[in-house]
Amino acid sequence: MKSVILLTIECLRADHMHFMGYHKRTTPNLDTFAKEGIVYTNTMSTSPWTPGSFFSIFTSLYPLMRGGTISPTDQTITLAECLRIEGYKTAAFAPGGWLSPLLGWGRGFEVYESSVREKSEKKRVKKSLPQKTIAQRFKIHELFSQFDRILNVSTKDLIFQYRNYRAPKQQTREQLKNQKALFWLNKNLNENKFLWIHYLQPHEPYYPTREYVSFSQIFKICKLNYKAMRNQAKREIGDVKLSNKELNELIALYDQQIITVDGLIGELITKIRSLEGETYFIITGDHGQGFMEHGILGHGLELYNEIIHTPLIILGPHITHKKIESVVSLRNIPLTVFSLLNIKPYRFSGISLLNKQQVEEQAKYGIISEASRNIRNQVSMKGGVVNYTNPQAKKWAITTNKWKFIFRKKGKMELYNRERDPKETIDVSKVQKNIARTFENKIKAHINFEDNASTPVRSKLRWKIMQLKRRKNTKLKL
Ligand SMILES: [Zn+2]
Repeated sequence: MKSVILLTIECLRADHMHFMGYHKRTTPNLDTFAKEGIVYTNTMSTSPWTPGSFFSIFTSLYPLMRGGTISPTDQTITLAECLRIEGYKTAAFAPGGWLSPLLGWGRGFEVYESSVREKSEKKRVKKSLPQKTIAQRFKIHELFSQFDRILNVSTKDLIFQYRNYRAPKQQTREQLKNQKALFWLNKNLNENKFLWIHYLQPHEPYYPTREYVSFSQIFKICKLNYKAMRNQAKREIGDVKLSNKELNELIALYDQQIITVDGLIGELITKIRSLEGETYFIITGDHGQGFMEHGILGHGLELYNEIIHTPLIILGPHITHKKIESVVSLRNIPLTVFSLLNIKPYRFSGISLLNKQQVEEQAKYGIISEASRNIRNQVSMKGGVVNYTNPQAKKWAITTNKWKFIFRKKGKMELYNRERDPKETIDVSKVQKNIARTFENKIKAHINFEDNASTPVRSKLRWKIMQLKRRKNTKLKL
């Protein structure tokens, strides 16, 4: 009996982990696991936002391949689908939103629990379609926004936070995910299993759990979050104006959420270990989070280090502590899972992170990350195939152990020496012209490959996958 448990955390930037050198003790549990397992200190996401990054985590493909997508398409095979073909029991406990099963994320999972109710999920997806909902027709959201603008606070958040403080729920959403996951594991004790939990904290807005705030702080925290998030979808670099004090307060709130999620993971792993024998854990973030280092608050469109650098720990039987400092990509997760479980590698691209030689070769070539502006109104609820790219805003980055190169199709290039300038503050593309040119050629070859890439699904597997797709994800009854 073998199991892999993939624990992913929203917006988790690597340099806020205590075991990665952060001055605050944000991660007491992860610090312990880091001492035990393999720690990859230079892990890059393929994308600065959730759907792009998970598309690579589950398919090993790049999000901008053949025009771009934000969820597994009919042409792709996912890690969960392969493991199910191999007879594994599969379950996912994820938030809704961009990881909604309605967009195809449930593929390969027998159980796919999204913490948002399906009804509101459908409404959310519908909202991004051209047809207008009743709320949109009567401009109810705009009415609320007017209120928000006058008070300089999100009235919805304020009501929710006060209510939650006065009458807190017995369990937070994240605690419920843990409880359900443990229930599912208990139900399938003697089976091979693949379990994925995605924790939504510490995504903005940053609202710490009740024990970290007093009643009198709620209004201030809501106001600060409103200021930080205002016009988030439309803003450009430099649009956000926050004082140093405000920025530090926001970072402290973000760190408190990391402490909370670290506690949840510690508790979960301890409980699972008391249940199960041969269990592997992969713990990572889907991308990082900006705090104005390059004028960006949050994530979404840029590829600077604070936005794509995330921690990665692999734990399990026969794994001894190691620190891998070479750059690696989150798109290497599928082949790493196959390697942990001794399963024949399905036709996924990339490498297994357990193969030291391949890790070094890949680092020498460079790790590619991609970004694009999303076009939400192209969401198709039926197909889950979404083209979210705007060719004008596409950008690529390539990271090696020494260099980081950012390429925009229409615009300036940037080159940073990661050894001397890990925070990417001095662009040396004009000084190191030859190096910049070499990276430019690599990116152009990558774009060419992406535009002409063929379907990675093996025809022999197709019928099996189609059968899996016909089965609906089930809900778990506690
Ligand atoms: Zn995310």
